[in-house]
Amino acid sequence: MKEMICIVCPVGCHLTADDDNNIAGNRCVRGAKYGLAEVTNPTRTLTTTIRTTSLTIPRLSVKTSTPISKALIFEALSYMNNVIINKNVKIGDVVIENILNTGVNMVATKNIEI
Ligand code: SF4
Repeated sequence: MKEMICIVCPVGCHLTADDDNNIAGNRCVRGAKYGLAEVTNPTRTLTTTIRTTSLTIPRLSVKTSTPISKALIFEALSYMNNVIINKNVKIGDVVIENILNTGVNMVATKNIEI
């Protein structure tokens, strides 16, 4: 049996999943969906920073446009370690398209002028 806390809303229900991935402890259907995703393919929104050529803002904050598989987080971070932003960027701009062929983009969460 796996135990987890639902993070979909502030109530924070304590969920359990049995060996057949049956979810219990949820107060609503969103929790059941979250619990099933957690035991089959957990995903997370990845927030991080990417190097820039700016002298005043050396790192640009970014996040995934949608959650990506938790299993890919470290590979995505490693990939972004080799990326350098060398142009002006506005909040919401896509700075990396389709990272790791996930179909997910990395978008800027800050304006930057190089
Ligand atoms: S199961 Fe429903 S009520 Fe409970 S924390 Fe998740 S979303 Fe909130």
